[in-house]
Amino acid sequence: MEKILIVGCKNTMDDVCIGCSRCMVAFNRREGAFERYGEDAELLGLLNCGGCPGASIVPRLIQVKLWNMPLGEMPTKVHIAPCIADHCPHADDLVTKIQVKSGCEVVMGCHAYVPEKIYV
Ligand code: SF4
Ligand code: SF4
Repeated sequence: MEKILIVGCKNTMDDVCIGCSRCMVAFNRREGAFERYGEDAELLGLLNCGGCPGASIVPRLIQVKLWNMPLGEMPTKVHIAPCIADHCPHADDLVTKIQVKSGCEVVMGCHAYVPEKIYV
């Protein structure tokens, strides 16, 4: 079963996509980059990058493993949210660190919604 960890931009998560519902709705509907998953896939967590310039992403990924390993709930895929992929000036460095430390496949992208689709 796929266990999905989303990594997003700390600056954006609470102040732009309020509540991060766009990524979670996309996962629940299996839209955007989540189209590939079957019904049994689960959203394991939503992790912020730790703040600019992303230096703490490595210990944060290790913390995710430490919290989840005893539960038997380890991520099988990490998704890089569009707030990082499309807007972060440190994205290349952040994604490289995540690829090295996550221990699973890293997928670029999550939701593909634009505001008109959400609010109109
Ligand atoms: S793109 Fe996703 S992770 Fe990033 S702030 Fe928006 S909902 Fe949250
Ligand atoms: S490092 Fe990038 S993703 Fe993290 S808070 Fe700064 S701009 Fe956002």
